[in-house]
Amino acid sequence: MTSLYREPETPGEHVDWGALEFLDVFRIHRSGPVETVALRGLDLRVERGEVIAVLGPSGSGKSTLLQLAAGLDQPSAGEVRALSEPLSRLGERELAEYRARRVAIVFQSRNLWPQLTARENVRLASRFVPGALQADEALAAFDVEKRASVRAGSLSGGEQQRVAIAAAAARRAPLVLADEPTAELDTANERVVLEALWALRDEHGSTVVVVTHSARIASTADRVVHLQDGRVA
Ligand code: ADP
Ligand code: MG
Repeated sequence: MTSLYREPETPGEHVDWGALEFLDVFRIHRSGPVETVALRGLDLRVERGEVIAVLGPSGSGKSTLLQLAAGLDQPSAGEVRALSEPLSRLGERELAEYRARRVAIVFQSRNLWPQLTARENVRLASRFVPGALQADEALAAFDVEKRASVRAGSLSGGEQQRVAIAAAAARRAPLVLADEPTAELDTANERVVLEALWALRDEHGSTVVVVTHSARIASTADRVVHLQDGRVA
């Protein structure tokens, strides 16, 4: 179980991480007598360096899928493998390390501390990552270096998302998970943010999973996965 936690390689190289895999995964929420089945036998394999878009109606289990992939939630049954390892086999410390160093999550909004500058946000996100990119370098890669000293709360929605993606790039996270990252953006910004996400794969070799409502976003991914009632349709 040491394979996951090698020290990060020199910039430009990539660790030997594998696909993200869901094997017959169930996630059932119980609240008293009420059961909600968020995932119902999900099978999915994402190859290394693949960019996939996950589409599906509200409540179909998209966010649950990401939470499980991020190690923030555990399946009720079935297995989630990320970076070659079943996450259930990781101890507390290893799981914490997986979340802190291997995964980057980009939400719809509020990815940043509004009172900190863009630069401070990127630094904060990558502070425990040996070999992290310099904050200004990461910001420049996503065309927001001129905004480095601006408080995140004063940036536009599109700029905030690009700073969040720059933070993911700075962390050199092999697995990038985005939950409707462009839901609050107009079409022009949607494109820019999308291109930034795709660049994470092209420039850093990350595997990128983007949950979206937008068929347009989905069409530019390597592959589209449709979720319906907690499984791949
Ligand atoms: P999506 O992101 O596709 O809208 P979610 O993964 O958020 O779907 O949710 C899938 C289903 O699981 C929904 O019916 C939702 O209400 C339910 N659900 C998600 N999280 C919880 C929770 N913590 N407690 C109870 N039900 C939940
Ligand atoms: Mg959701």
